[in-house]
Amino acid sequence: MPLRSFADVPNRIVRLFLQEAGRQYDANRGLRPFGSMPKTLIDRFDGACAYCGEVGPLVEEHLVPMNRAAIGLHAWGNIVPSCKRCNDLKAARAWEVHPMLDPHRRTAISDYITESGYAPDVSELRVVLSKLYELADRQTRALVEFGLVASRPYIAGLNAAATDTADD
Ligand SMILES: [Zn+2]
Repeated sequence: MPLRSFADVPNRIVRLFLQEAGRQYDANRGLRPFGSMPKTLIDRFDGACAYCGEVGPLVEEHLVPMNRAAIGLHAWGNIVPSCKRCNDLKAARAWEVHPMLDPHRRTAISDYITESGYAPDVSELRVVLSKLYELADRQTRALVEFGLVASRPYIAGLNAAATDTADD
């Protein structure tokens, strides 16, 4: 994923944090780290998208989104296989309102969450994440600004260099 804005960096740091916090949450529950999409989980959803049932290339879909507002963890019980289309379609919405869900697949997801024991109380994390985002945002801007100031003469010379090359 290419970075498109300053906000991408703090958002990714929040994701990294939620990934590591999820790893610890899994360990606390006596589960092995989630790792990449396990075959057992794909089989559980009949090798198909948990939302629409389509068989094909599957991606990891976080039921509770991994962002600072929803605070979903990268952990067992919060990740299901999904087709790319359903993954895009859901974006940051709650999984329960996914337009492709039918009652059968809704129950399958709900059972998976319950059986995994995924029910973290993330209320205390909200404060930490808000601070983390703010720090990451400030640091990102400061670093880019530092780079721009330090390279001002080189940036000024970028066109001249290109012109020289073109003349050769
Ligand atoms: Zn799908």
